[in-house]
Amino acid sequence: MTAEHVSLKDLENKNEFIRRHIGPGEQETAEMLAELGLGSLEELLDNTIPGSILQAEPPAVGEAHTEAETLVYLKDMLAKNKMYRSFIGMGYHDTLTPTVILRNVFENPGWYTAYTPYQPEIAQGRLEALVNFQQLTMDLTGLDLASASLLDEGTAAGEALGLARRVSKNKNSNLFYIDENCHPQTIDVVKTRAKGFDVDVIVGPATEAVNHDSFGALIAYSDTYGQIRNPQSLIAELQGQKCIVSVVADIMSLILLKSPGSLGADAVLGSAQRFGVPMGYGGPHAAFFATSEKHKRSLPGRVIGVSIDQRGNKGYRLAMQTREQHIRREKATSNICTAQVLLANMASFYAVYHGPEGLKNIASRIHRLTDILAAGLKNKGATLQNDTWFDTITLQVKDKSAMLARADARKVNLRIFDDNRVSISLDECTTRDDIVCLWDIVLGEGHGLNVDTLDSQITAKGSASIPAELVRDDAILTHPVFNSYHSETEMLRYIKRLEDRDLALNHSMIPLGSCTMKLNATTEMLPVTWPELGRMHPFVPVSQSEGTRQMIRELEDYLKIITGFDAVSMQPNSGAQGEYAGLMAIRNYLESIGEGHRNVCLIPASAHGTNPASAAMAGMKVVVTACDENGNVDVADLKQKAEDMKDQLAALMITYPSTHGVYEEGIREICDIIHANGGQVYMDGANMNGQVGVSKPAEIGADVSHWNLHKTLCIPHGGGGPGMGPIGIKQHLVPFVANHSVIKLDGPNPESTAISAAPWGSVSILPIPWAYIRMMGSDGIRKSTAVALMNANYLAKKLAEYYPVLYTGRNGRVAHECIIDIRPLKAASGITEEDIAKRLMDFGFHAPTMSFPVAGTLMIEPTESESKAELDRFIEAMVQIRHEVARVENGELDAENNMLVRAPHTLADILDNEWDRPYTREEAAYPVPSVARSKFWPSVNRVDNVYGDRHLMCSCPPVESYQD
Ligand SMILES: *Cc1c(COP(=O)(O)O)cnc(C)c1O
Repeated sequence: MTAEHVSLKDLENKNEFIRRHIGPGEQETAEMLAELGLGSLEELLDNTIPGSILQAEPPAVGEAHTEAETLVYLKDMLAKNKMYRSFIGMGYHDTLTPTVILRNVFENPGWYTAYTPYQPEIAQGRLEALVNFQQLTMDLTGLDLASASLLDEGTAAGEALGLARRVSKNKNSNLFYIDENCHPQTIDVVKTRAKGFDVDVIVGPATEAVNHDSFGALIAYSDTYGQIRNPQSLIAELQGQKCIVSVVADIMSLILLKSPGSLGADAVLGSAQRFGVPMGYGGPHAAFFATSEKHKRSLPGRVIGVSIDQRGNKGYRLAMQTREQHIRREKATSNICTAQVLLANMASFYAVYHGPEGLKNIASRIHRLTDILAAGLKNKGATLQNDTWFDTITLQVKDKSAMLARADARKVNLRIFDDNRVSISLDECTTRDDIVCLWDIVLGEGHGLNVDTLDSQITAKGSASIPAELVRDDAILTHPVFNSYHSETEMLRYIKRLEDRDLALNHSMIPLGSCTMKLNATTEMLPVTWPELGRMHPFVPVSQSEGTRQMIRELEDYLKIITGFDAVSMQPNSGAQGEYAGLMAIRNYLESIGEGHRNVCLIPASAHGTNPASAAMAGMKVVVTACDENGNVDVADLKQKAEDMKDQLAALMITYPSTHGVYEEGIREICDIIHANGGQVYMDGANMNGQVGVSKPAEIGADVSHWNLHKTLCIPHGGGGPGMGPIGIKQHLVPFVANHSVIKLDGPNPESTAISAAPWGSVSILPIPWAYIRMMGSDGIRKSTAVALMNANYLAKKLAEYYPVLYTGRNGRVAHECIIDIRPLKAASGITEEDIAKRLMDFGFHAPTMSFPVAGTLMIEPTESESKAELDRFIEAMVQIRHEVARVENGELDAENNMLVRAPHTLADILDNEWDRPYTREEAAYPVPSVARSKFWPSVNRVDNVYGDRHLMCSCPPVESYQD
């Protein structure tokens, strides 16, 4: 185009973001379409998607906006927030994210774009950081074994209920007892879990727990009002009644308090938010969970263990995977899949950076400021409810409305109760001036109190607000990792060293089927760390969060338009949580119409493991339906089962496009069958990348569906979390989705209990999907899906010559992902899908999804963000690997000693003086010339899973093992 014939409008209309998000350019797209025998992307859609579900037009989410404009718009919107200092507590505290962690972890794609560490050889960095998190948890809780993060404190408490139910010897009891002084949202979430399991709950004073015959109890250590009681004798008494006792604790307080483990607790849990992770108006942050050795098989969540690699060196990897929902399905002990890895890593780095002394200083300063605040108030005659505390005091105020007016004038939030009480909770950001300000608020100005004077008095007589018998006296965080990186230079290099061991999207494509590893654009990511989002407490009066709530509403509206649902529940903070939330809504709805006896959940054999696990947690009976040889749901079998069980049928869970990577033609019929037999349709929307902009789940027949915003809608995977799994619902289900005990939501029944701790889930990552949709606009999101299909079909076509593509739909097309079958190769050569996965590392690629949904296969999902050049590099690697397999097959290479079985190759291999292999060093490390361009060296050789589980070790390994 020449300049003189272009208008300003033309220039401005050329949206650059769509082009930047989508990998293939115009020329590449034309070439790839030609390869598929197609003339346009719309033709590809017609050719691939069943006409019965294909939307003629893209959903009306509006025009595409530029990156710059989107940021300005959001900044203006968030300016409507009123930024107060919050002393609300309740499990959320302001924190100082060390800037070296903020910039180099939280804002660093090397950390945030990585995947769950299923391929340990290229994930040793985050695995080490997670082991540090586990060690930190074990040290602070005083227990033997910790997991690598759960979703939030509320759901962690729910998991404690689940653990108690499984391991308690009190099999006659169906009662779980909850200390009424736990945080209200924690109680709320546990109530939901209890309902799912058909467990009875009593919420009452901790001391009265012994008067009830319960299989489990949850006790607050530092309760919601700030009081600290010694739980030791209560725990012992309860355990004497075969009750499993879990303690919910504040992570910062545990630095000064005796560990609950040492006081006898069976499990200890809580939020790790205040270790450097912004409040984010509710999240994301990591919860910690620890238990004793004897309950290790029931520990919820992922656990990182230490094993050895092929050279006998230390290698981390996910341990005890056989407990997970992927394997155990409806017998799984928990449905947790995506957790909070990025945030757990931030918390662990916070501990590494500050070290035991630094943390002690932070905690002691918070505690001392609380002592001073309390002393001043007491001097002036205030009545404190608690006589012990770490950081929180609760008091009676005389003139509540005058006090509230003073607080408002000073832009300060306290926790306000219905009666005349308020609570004040301090944090590491609290200053001396804040204390004076808090006195001014509670007492009115002119109180004459002085911080230093009171401090001298306390210093002289000693603080007594932590009972002497509960003062921590054991050494914590003695491991060298917590004692070595306290200068910024050392810390920066430690973070970088770990980052360099991990392969993330900033190196190469991560073609994990079902996981949708697409671009996490920088513009989408920027707002995540804006203080307007980060420093807002989730329980501020809603009048202060207008800007943020507008963003949430706009995102909800986008999602409704894209999916066709009537309403959205934003609470679930992972896909699996969405499943659970949706099934609980179905259950509540069925009860409301007198159909509460319906409890059968049909699930196709190909379903993701979280589906049956979630169904079991919702109290449903899982009935598996068959798939036919083309990978489709066997409609005849489904129909038969639905009709046979028509009096008990509650729901069907179905993934669309299917986990086999095809658009099933029968989907509408399937939904009709379920409805005709009195059931509800739950659509697992993890594969929404095959639907956004081209078809609508609600219109196809789903009643409820979750979407993994961390897959389809660009939230990065963070190395295994955070995620968001909001659900879309049809009108009849709206009253039955989660509400919240602290912040009441419009729509759901007021008495509905919560799914997550925060009312709208992990809000600070919502600008990502919001910005994505706004910058792509209607046409952009449709194009995105079309290109995702094109990329998958291009790969399938190119690879089909070398590897059989297992399932295809109409016209031989796949959806947004494809499965290649490795079983024939394995039969002929002995080379397994795992060998191929490990060999891909030598080419600098992360393996596709292995053995899901079919054992012995690889599921490849390129997404729309990968360019043709990157796809061609991947194809080149896969073709080269096929040639290598052929050499094993025809006996040219030894079956045990070849570049596939011995993959991945490390620098240590290549530099080894002894080279006893029938292939060259060059073939090992530079299998194709393009690898040399930017070689990624796995930091360990293949990690031995069996050894790791036999010699289970989930703490930081001894120092010597670091000196390699
Ligand atoms: C990823 C996935 C889930 C689980 O989502 P999480 O966010 O990891 O809990 C469920 N179903 C399918 C098909 C998935 O791919």
